Amino acid sequence: NADLAMYKAKQSGRNQAHFFTAMMQEHANQRMTLEQDLRHALERDELEVYYQPIIAGNSGHVQGVEALLRWHHPERGLIPPDQFIPLAEETGLIGSIGEWVLETSCAQVSRLNKEGQSLYLSVNISERQRDLGLDADAVSAVLEHHDLKPEWLLLEITEGLLLQDSEETVTWLEGFKALGVSLAIDDFGTGYSSLGYLKRFPVDTLKIDREFIRDLNTDRYADSLVSAIISMAASLELRLIAEGVETDKQRLTLVSQGCCYMQGYLFCRPLPAAQLKQWLREYRPSPCIMEP
Ligand code: C2E
Ligand code: MG
Ligand code: MG
Ligand code: MG
Repeated sequence: NADLAMYKAKQSGRNQAHFFTAMMQEHANQRMTLEQDLRHALERDELEVYYQPIIAGNSGHVQGVEALLRWHHPERGLIPPDQFIPLAEETGLIGSIGEWVLETSCAQVSRLNKEGQSLYLSVNISERQRDLGLDADAVSAVLEHHDLKPEWLLLEITEGLLLQDSEETVTWLEGFKALGVSLAIDDFGTGYSSLGYLKRFPVDTLKIDREFIRDLNTDRYADSLVSAIISMAASLELRLIAEGVETDKQRLTLVSQGCCYMQGYLFCRPLPAAQLKQWLREYRPSPCIMEP
């Protein structure tokens, strides 16, 4: 009967509306709790920097490490950066968190180098940090404090930052460059790439996004993109690092096309400092054997 059906539909619509409101409320609450927890994460010592080795693909030698942040949440366990960095950016907490990451990773890598390693350090930075005190002077002070040469530091920025293409950003990045620090574009190829910015911004390194490496050898489109990026980097004299290399076949393909540096689970997952040290001690580079 039509009346009954109408009544039921209205009722269920109302329930659904309630359901969505409740869900949105729950979502907002969770976010607020997470934000409050993040405010205390630093002082409660819940953050930890992990490190992933960056390898010369042909020789297998370790060149450097990328600092990757982790949050040990007291109730939720290990939270990956994708789940809290955006929140840190929105709230401005990325200022103090980013400072801490730089300070901590410089200290740890400097210690490793004093113990006989020669690693460069790669650190991800957010555009938000520009207005939160991260400038050439601040970086220079941290480097000096830990006795690390600027040449040993690489700062990674994502394409998003460069899209704004502002004079301020250019000046900001040129400040780092003048110090002698290297600059990389992270996740290269995933943004709304306007290749013009390769000329406009003082970057010297590109990191090919994992997405393209994943599809290497299985998707001809990915193959063409990767080889185009490799030859472009070569002619622009940019250093190239491939992210997310998981198989030896991917490594071979990259090396044979001329991509020198790589990181990925094939070599090592991101590790806490103590485990990295252990890994470095036990690691034996295996050269890439090319078939004739
Ligand atoms: P990213 O800088 O592009 O880092 C590479 C990501 O790929 C890392 O994820 C790493 O663990 C992962 N990865 C490396 N090799 C492989 C592989 O072979 N296979 C797969 N499936 N994944 C691999 P992670 O550590 O979860 O970091 C995610 C993102 O969070 C980073 O992407 C970076 O954009 C951001 N991030 C991490 N630490 C910081 C930080 O201290 N500051 C800022 N601003 N962002 C950070
Ligand atoms: Mg990165
Ligand atoms: Mg990346
Ligand atoms: Mg990324």
